Amino acid sequence: SAPAPAFRFDPHQAPVAATERAERLIDPGFGRVFTDHMALIRFSDEKGWHDAQITARGPLPIDPASSVLHYAQEIFEGLKAYRLADGGTALFRPDANARRFRDSAQRLAMPELPEALFVESIERLVAADADWIPGGEGALYLRPFMFASEVFLGVKPAAEYLYMVIASSVGAYWKGGMRPISVWVSREHTRAAPGGTGAAKCGGNYAASLIAQKAAIAQGCDQVVFLDAAERRWIEELGGMNLFFVMDDGSLVTPPLTGTILPGITRDSLIALARNQGLTVREEPYAIDQWREDARSGRLVEAFACGTAAVVTPVGRVADTAGDFTIGTGGTGQTTQRLHQALNAIQRGQAPDPHGWLHR
Ligand code: PMP
Repeated sequence: SAPAPAFRFDPHQAPVAATERAERLIDPGFGRVFTDHMALIRFSDEKGWHDAQITARGPLPIDPASSVLHYAQEIFEGLKAYRLADGGTALFRPDANARRFRDSAQRLAMPELPEALFVESIERLVAADADWIPGGEGALYLRPFMFASEVFLGVKPAAEYLYMVIASSVGAYWKGGMRPISVWVSREHTRAAPGGTGAAKCGGNYAASLIAQKAAIAQGCDQVVFLDAAERRWIEELGGMNLFFVMDDGSLVTPPLTGTILPGITRDSLIALARNQGLTVREEPYAIDQWREDARSGRLVEAFACGTAAVVTPVGRVADTAGDFTIGTGGTGQTTQRLHQALNAIQRGQAPDPHGWLHR
């Protein structure tokens, strides 16, 4: 294969002034405050990966016949850079995102970006935009993505792609402490089917999930829970988070990675941390009717969702046409709280990192 392209730094635009940046960082929320730069690498069947650059963030000229606009050949990732307790900065498990990005590319018949190049592109962008990493409870959210840029209307894997990374300063997810969410069980729509793209992080999965998320909101809930497509019986995940169930014997259950749910990096990290704490974690199918029964009997005491954005989110109430139920007291359980604190402390360099997850 061709040697990895060298990055060129080409900021053809002045960065945002420090005073304005400070203002934007006061209460950035999620996904609306962007940094000065972006990373970009091109791919073509002829040249392979080439033209790597860190450049001023700005709009892309895009031909209306670009194949992504028609057939949705697009994948993405999400990870964070944190300010550490010792003043340094670190990415959390970027190697795991690099691997998942390759897996997604393979599923969508796209070229696989070498993992080292994925990590380098993010390192260089974070270095250029380090002033945009908020302190305190905030972080810099990195969004690597790749799409088919070939100008052609035939249905086939494109011959040209753009890989890019943009960055967004995000605030504390939980202002004033964790708040349990309510979830709506989608009986009508499914997210993924066996043999489909459920385990890939492709834009199309999210487009297809929005109608169910909309239904959840209409029901007064925060998030949607998807069931398996074949039997409509097994719990899969939320629209953008994996699920864990905490039993009264202290053990945890989480749905297995059978190809229809996203293999979350937070999920994987929490399994390791829970096992470090001496807890039993079973990756096994858990039925929606069992969840209701266990919540009512008290065998299930907590449930939480997890993902890069919020890290850990307690689930307090479940709304379902087959019967609503409350988890525990509807508040935040002890195991949920403890696991969240343990992971958050590692991510921010406030605790030892025995698994080597921080990438400085
Ligand atoms: N499931 C889905 C569908 C998601 O979009 C995400 C967010 N990437 C997750 C789970 C959690 O994954 P991670 O912990 O890697 O953010």
